[in-house]
Amino acid sequence: MRCLMCGKNRDEGTFRDLFDPQDPLCEKCRSEWRRKHIRFRLGGVTAESSYVYNEAFSRCLIQFKELNDEALRDVFLYEVADRLRFRYRGYTLCLLPSSEEKSAARGFSHLRLMFACLKMPMIEPFRKVTSQDQKNLNREERLAMQDAIILKDGVQLPEKILLCDDTITTGATMLGALAALGQKAQKVRIYAVSANIRWL
Ligand SMILES: [Zn+2]
Repeated sequence: MRCLMCGKNRDEGTFRDLFDPQDPLCEKCRSEWRRKHIRFRLGGVTAESSYVYNEAFSRCLIQFKELNDEALRDVFLYEVADRLRFRYRGYTLCLLPSSEEKSAARGFSHLRLMFACLKMPMIEPFRKVTSQDQKNLNREERLAMQDAIILKDGVQLPEKILLCDDTITTGATMLGALAALGQKAQKVRIYAVSANIRWL
């Protein structure tokens, strides 16, 4: 099997490459990800992440999202899926929205693909109103985006909600989702695969 990032044939790789051949990444590519269990609070809610957002993670995420490389779907949660399934038993995954124009252009919901490997109940209850790319916004503009997430019409919210995203940067999108939930949800937790170093 070839590594999905560097293309190296894993049969010729390290001991771990041979020992754990199911990992879609080879040992070298995997070691560039900074695995770290990060726990923090966001908007009064308990949040956790499994990786520090860094260049290697970003590169893989961009290849998955922007270049539509669907083969990478299982790379992100490969190391933590069992733990998440156990820890959040009884929760429903509530995926954060990407801007509608973008996901339409992509033709797939990247978070839905990414979290499918957990085989947990999953809904997409939110709608993002703006299509502006967050990267080009300053802090004030990002904070203003909190109001730009709304619940879709007629959404039935489950009792236990795990808000899920690929990355938490400023936390503004997540705060927007929390604001959209308001008092409607009974139990809410947050999980993002990676988190910006500021949350350490
Ligand atoms: Zn590799």
